[in-house]
Amino acid sequence: MNPETRVIQAGRPHTGPVNTPVYRASTIVFENLAEFDVGKDHERHTLTYGRYGTPTTFDLELAIAEIEGAYAAALTPSGLSAITTALQAFLRPGDHLLMPDSVYGPARRFATEFLAERGVVTDFYVPNDLAALRRLLRKNTRVVYLESPGSLTFEIQDIPAITAICRERGIITLADNTWATPLAFQPLAHGVDVALQSGTKYLVGHSDAMIGTIACTESAWPYVATALTSLGICVSPDDAWLASRGLRTMGVRLQRHAENALLVAQWLQEQPEVQRVAYPPLPGDAGYELWRRDFSGASGLMAVWLRHGYSRDNLRQMVDAMQVFRLGGSWGGFESLVFPVAPEQSRGQAIAPDAAYLRLHVGLENANDMIADLKAGLKRLHAPS
Ligand SMILES: *Cc1c(COP(=O)(O)O)cnc(C)c1O
Repeated sequence: MNPETRVIQAGRPHTGPVNTPVYRASTIVFENLAEFDVGKDHERHTLTYGRYGTPTTFDLELAIAEIEGAYAAALTPSGLSAITTALQAFLRPGDHLLMPDSVYGPARRFATEFLAERGVVTDFYVPNDLAALRRLLRKNTRVVYLESPGSLTFEIQDIPAITAICRERGIITLADNTWATPLAFQPLAHGVDVALQSGTKYLVGHSDAMIGTIACTESAWPYVATALTSLGICVSPDDAWLASRGLRTMGVRLQRHAENALLVAQWLQEQPEVQRVAYPPLPGDAGYELWRRDFSGASGLMAVWLRHGYSRDNLRQMVDAMQVFRLGGSWGGFESLVFPVAPEQSRGQAIAPDAAYLRLHVGLENANDMIADLKAGLKRLHAPS
């Protein structure tokens, strides 16, 4: 079945009501001691105690596993906790971790602060330079982390090539696949061991809940399952239910985000105020060829480098009065967002210093309204402050 069909069918093993209801539970009561003993080994997907899940979370985990082509999947309370739980599952003191320089900022901080204090050394590699990545590999490299496209700067990585190198050496690969979602890119089918997703973004899709997903191959799963149990990771049934609801419309939403985003990106790159649009599905983007080879779709997040010379005040005049693009971080909801960011502040690699830089989330509104909003905004850049 195609992904758009799978998001409708997956994790719905029931007759009766179409959707699994919200089960709120901590204590579970048992008929007798024999029944209690069956659940005692905390085998996942048996109802034993609220922390180990309820049918609401089990059915969503089954759905995610099926859509990701995974052996098993788990939910976490946020995207960041999916990342930190998975990293802790595999890394021990003395291990070496490689992360792309374009990695999501809080994941970078987790490595340089939390993991560093616990004896894990992290090096950052240029996301799209295989030779450089190879040179950084050490005997004790345990995990190579991937994120494609990268946060803020949108470099596409050659994931099949990187996972092939890692497999040869027994190195585990973890991929943050939040931008594409498993609908537009399937990490496990491209050799990745563990696919991570901030479900807060497109899975929930309505900017009203936080959740993360971890999808594993059979050999990776025991490490992740142990970490989840040991750390006491569990998700509210209400948030799992909102994510399950979001899942059913993810196919149509993503398609519309991608259509709108391409129209906006194409328009933006023609504007005199714009230096560069970073959006892999845009022909001519540095990642376009790899994106076309490996991805089956796209989403609505992109970056715009303005030409040099615009001040923070110019940017304020543009952004403060925008109407379709609201000022806000996070992304993946139905609404368009604009967010001024400064990627060069957290990178080892130099990237267009001094350029005013905007991240755009292209939502589900009419693309003509978005373009009109951006057109008026770019005009305000020139207005005297
Ligand atoms: C937002 C985001 C996360 C973190 O997800 P939360 O649900 O906000 O914790 C991780 N990775 C990427 C690429 C993100 O954009």
